[in-house]
Amino acid sequence: MRLILLGPPGVGKGTQAKLLASLFTISHISTGDILREAAAAGTELGLKAKELMDAGRLVPDDVMIGIIRDVLRTDRSVPGFILDGFPRTVPQAVALTKLLEELNLSIDRVINMEVDEEEVVRRLGKRLTCQTCGRTYNVETDRLIDPKKCPNCGGKLVKREDDKPATIRKRLRVYSELTAPVKEYYKKLGLLENVSAKGSIEQVKSSILELLDHR
Ligand code: AMP
Repeated sequence: MRLILLGPPGVGKGTQAKLLASLFTISHISTGDILREAAAAGTELGLKAKELMDAGRLVPDDVMIGIIRDVLRTDRSVPGFILDGFPRTVPQAVALTKLLEELNLSIDRVINMEVDEEEVVRRLGKRLTCQTCGRTYNVETDRLIDPKKCPNCGGKLVKREDDKPATIRKRLRVYSELTAPVKEYYKKLGLLENVSAKGSIEQVKSSILELLDHR
């Protein structure tokens, strides 16, 4: 199975992508994670990307397309995959279609997760991320025993630089300007499915599984 998850920052794409990847034994490919790993490793690409990420801006299309091309040519694409955070612009979506054609692969479904903007701002404002394993937590709903320590791996929980209020607003503006048109692109291809991301993690997962079943 090959899926794409679309939706604004903070809608829960990463959370659902991890669950679906483990359920279907497919690769979770998050371009945000790839960039954060490169930044942590201090590579030239990573350091350049970090400046843009921290400012809530997008990394240039040609860089991102190169990254995805490299990933999809590895074994990671073999069991199937779920793309989280890519494509984020129409040129990225067009390039992905071309790349998949070259690789003789196709996308089964594009799942667009929907939630209103205020909810996104609220969720991101409460989000903490583990510096070590990358898991995210909501300080309100996850009832952490120690709000500085990851319950999964013991790593340090921090607020991502781009989860600060001014940057959240900027990311949402970038989303509606550059990423929202990607929905139209996939709608025209007949691949788009909308799902409400308003409920609990389990409810949203069930809605996604239902729409994957029912076609
Ligand atoms: P995410 O973890 O998906 O929210 O991504 C964090 C940040 O990484 C974004 O705000 C962008 O700066 C950058 N990024 C991730 N994926 C892409 C992409 N496909 N195109 C451009 N920038 C990206």
